[in-house]
Amino acid sequence: MKSNMEQKGILIVISGFSGAGKGTLVKELLRRYDDYALSVSMTTRAPRAGERDGVEYFFTDKAHFEEEIEKGGLIEYASYCGNYYGTPKAYVEERLEAGQNVILEIEIQGALKIKKKFPESLLIFVTPPNAEELKRRLEGRGTESEEAIANRLARAAEESEGVEAYDYLVVNDKLEESAEEVQRLVDAARRAPVRREKFVKEIREGLRSFAKGAQE
Ligand code: 5GP
Repeated sequence: MKSNMEQKGILIVISGFSGAGKGTLVKELLRRYDDYALSVSMTTRAPRAGERDGVEYFFTDKAHFEEEIEKGGLIEYASYCGNYYGTPKAYVEERLEAGQNVILEIEIQGALKIKKKFPESLLIFVTPPNAEELKRRLEGRGTESEEAIANRLARAAEESEGVEAYDYLVVNDKLEESAEEVQRLVDAARRAPVRREKFVKEIREGLRSFAKGAQE
């Protein structure tokens, strides 16, 4: 699907419990549709096996991250399980201007900051069908220690308290269906008048000029 250059893209926040499969879902969206751009975050977390700098994340240290905060180079940032994570500003702004929908795959504190700063953003929360499935997926991933898994499950319980702040909940059972569901939600969101500023302005001005003509 081609992006509509007449219209700015929308900012889409995708959050979900660690292990909900949101990373895979985002990859599937990017593979299927060409109107999405994925923002690469900056983090102080150490790379996991196979992760590349500039692809999964921009890996950095605490001092540099704090410098970026100072410079105003991040749209939002948060601390999660002892590390900083943040969204670099320049790429997001550039892609939105170019008419692409930009995906931020971020946790809930960051999501709430985005909604406050950009009320037209679309917040989607991805969850597995139930709690047992989440535990099973986290253990099956094999990339984290038992302690880290317990930590992430505790964090998921905390995050579950905040899901009502999101616009939509996507239960990620079958990957293809979830990707199509997200695409439908984004498509619908793009049709909302608040996200079609240019169109609304033009038709309003046109109508006003007719109304003025009729009065004269
Ligand atoms: P992980 O360590 O599993 O890659 O990520 C941990 C959490 O940090 C995930 O929930 C992920 O979505 C979130 N995260 C990744 N990048 C960012 C970011 O730029 N900002 C915020 N607020 N959270 C992020």
